[in-house]
Amino acid sequence: MTTFSFEFFPAKTDEGVDKLCQTFDTLNNLAPTYFSVTYGAGGTTRNRTLDIVKRLHKRSDTPIAPHISCIGDSKDAIKSLLEEYRSMGISRLVALRGDLPSGQVDMGELPYALDLVQFIRHEFGDDFHIEVAAYPEMHPQAKSFAFDVQNLVAKFEAGANNAITQFFYNADSYLHLRDAVEKHGIDTTNHPIVAGIMPITNASSLIRFADSTGADIPRYVRKQLADFGDDRKAIRAFGFEVVQRLCERLMSEGVPAFHFYSMNKVSPSQQLVEALGLTSGAER
Ligand code: FAD
Repeated sequence: MTTFSFEFFPAKTDEGVDKLCQTFDTLNNLAPTYFSVTYGAGGTTRNRTLDIVKRLHKRSDTPIAPHISCIGDSKDAIKSLLEEYRSMGISRLVALRGDLPSGQVDMGELPYALDLVQFIRHEFGDDFHIEVAAYPEMHPQAKSFAFDVQNLVAKFEAGANNAITQFFYNADSYLHLRDAVEKHGIDTTNHPIVAGIMPITNASSLIRFADSTGADIPRYVRKQLADFGDDRKAIRAFGFEVVQRLCERLMSEGVPAFHFYSMNKVSPSQQLVEALGLTSGAER
């Protein structure tokens, strides 16, 4: 059975937070494994991420997994935030390097996600289940594909439980990454690589985001999105078909789970969960 989770980013206003709580309630009815909440590298959303995590954690028994990044942050700051999460009963984290905010050059005491995973295991033992990032199409700053795979393997060997991928629209890139990791002796049954899924609802923001993260939008998708112009209904219908097919192919290849980049919206992820039959009897 393929499981699924949803990702939120912390809303900026009180009104946004209330809306996010409603979105949470609706998506929570689908019975996801957990929700994650992103974190601004260098601590830029530290309090907002913490506040949202507290609110959602109190709202239901579904686990909430805060993202935590290390670049530009001190060990003390990271440790005290994790102590606070642990005292609240949070037991799952998404551990990332993050990207330095523009203008900042100091990478801090823990420059890479591998350093963060080692630090968490050293300071907190097995108190947290740790997810890390993986890149089917290679991280844009990686020296090589092989180096990037080795980096993911090192994160697993340092104690990461699972990985969640950057979004992608080419199923073969995911399968290739999974095979490459297994060739390094990692059993992906014990260390699942969860497919990060970005629903397609808006052409310009998707293209901008894909370009900045190094994710490839296949030419046939990019061209048709351009052809649809401002016709948002047509973009959503086409985008849904593309992503549904991607997920179906991944399921037929044994993908363990999907992590939906919800963009704080209900419909795009909910429709996919339902169309893929992921809830089958689990809805509450
Ligand atoms: P790492 O695993 O450290 O890798 C970063 C790069 O450094 C890679 O190119 C790697 O090959 C290279 N590298 C690793 N070790 C070395 C070394 N010793 N020497 C040289 N190069 C090295 N960002 C946020 O700011 N907040 C979030 O909440 C957030 N959530 C995310 C969730 C997911 C599922 C994903 C996939 C990404 C998320 N990101 C987030 C983006 C992420 O922070 C960026 O992609 C960042 O650039 C890399 O983070 P990482 O954890 O993959 O870093």
